[in-house]
Amino acid sequence: MSERLQAPRGTQDVLGEQARARAALEGHARGVLEAAGYERIETPAFEATELFARGVGASTDVVQKEMYTFTDGGGRSLTLRPEGTAPICRAFLEHGMARRPAPVKLWYLSSFFRYERAQAGRYRQFWQIGAEVIGSADPSVDAETILLLAELLDVLGVGERRLRLSSLGSPPARIEYRERLTAHLLTRRDELAPEVAARIELNPLRAFDSDHAGTRAVMADAPILLDCIDDDDRSHFDAVRALLDDAGLAYDIDPTLVRGLDYYTRTVFEFESAALGAQRGVGGGGRYDGLMAQLGGPDTPACGWAAGVERILLAAGDPPPEPPVVDLYVGYAEPARRAVAFALARTARRAGLHAELELAGRSLKGQLKHADRLGARHVALVQADGVALKTMADGEQRELGDEAAATEIARLGSP
Ligand code: AMP
Repeated sequence: MSERLQAPRGTQDVLGEQARARAALEGHARGVLEAAGYERIETPAFEATELFARGVGASTDVVQKEMYTFTDGGGRSLTLRPEGTAPICRAFLEHGMARRPAPVKLWYLSSFFRYERAQAGRYRQFWQIGAEVIGSADPSVDAETILLLAELLDVLGVGERRLRLSSLGSPPARIEYRERLTAHLLTRRDELAPEVAARIELNPLRAFDSDHAGTRAVMADAPILLDCIDDDDRSHFDAVRALLDDAGLAYDIDPTLVRGLDYYTRTVFEFESAALGAQRGVGGGGRYDGLMAQLGGPDTPACGWAAGVERILLAAGDPPPEPPVVDLYVGYAEPARRAVAFALARTARRAGLHAELELAGRSLKGQLKHADRLGARHVALVQADGVALKTMADGEQRELGDEAAATEIARLGSP
């Protein structure tokens, strides 16, 4: 016998109640986002590698070690998308969406791929719901996107959560800050975790993410970026905060919030759920005013977020939706009458009923047993000369001609 194969590490099969939970989540996401005028977008599962190298940032963990990159038959370097923002910016430019009234509001629900250490809440293929608002620098965009994510998490049952909020300012302040932070880290290099020490020059901000005790002590005394941002960035941040305050959304200002992708400017935020373990982040994002230009487009301000579907489902912990009610089970007594059974099932489905067909060639007794196991409300058994239509709740059974049975079944579908 051949060896049985398993799904790759860090991937998940989505079955049964998990699939239903995801379908419900998608319905809620669509409800919340489309009610606010966001349009669904789909981009390809893979893109030119350069899009992410340029868009996400060459010094990020994502680009340095987490991408699934391959060369295709034509010798091109392609990468399975590790995130959704750079592809959407690419699509925005490619389709001339700047001609639309600003801002352009888009949402997506797609799978993403990162070669990460697989554990609970962290996978190598995972799904994200995301929203992007492109073409407005107004602080109301930052506030609306944050409020929409909060609303979505509420609707999805992610109750106990914390919103961390900060501003990364604009590039000049960041460059200056980076130099100050680098100098601070270099003077205390010996106390840092080796991997942080090795990457001081490359990406000093990542030191804030470390769990290493020595590194944390060094970071406790580190200069704070939020103290260095310029007046425009500060008034933008204050306006965002005021809008969140007015909407009654609580947040913690957290100047240590650094997100793993390089493109952020000004506002950054992250929602954490107390219900999750080490992987607490359910969703986050921020403003990325420089990204479009980095991808060869005109300067275009934008803001967005992404939330992890698996983490939302873990954090919500709601009972999964019930399986659908089977309105009708259609069986048949002899293969010669199978076509009639197919026709009745089609009639029922067109009438809006959930109808299932006998597909395993069971005996009549076996068919009834199976219908019972499914919890079918009605059973239609196609016989040699007509149809026996049975209501399972009271056992009432009627013998009908083929056409009368079809009429009766269609009637079951009308309220
Ligand atoms: P990011 O794109 O890194 O800002 O992540 C946004 C959200 O996606 C996170 O808050 C998580 O909920 C989710 N996420 C990111 N990476 C993973 C992963 N490897 N597995 C599962 N969820 C993830």
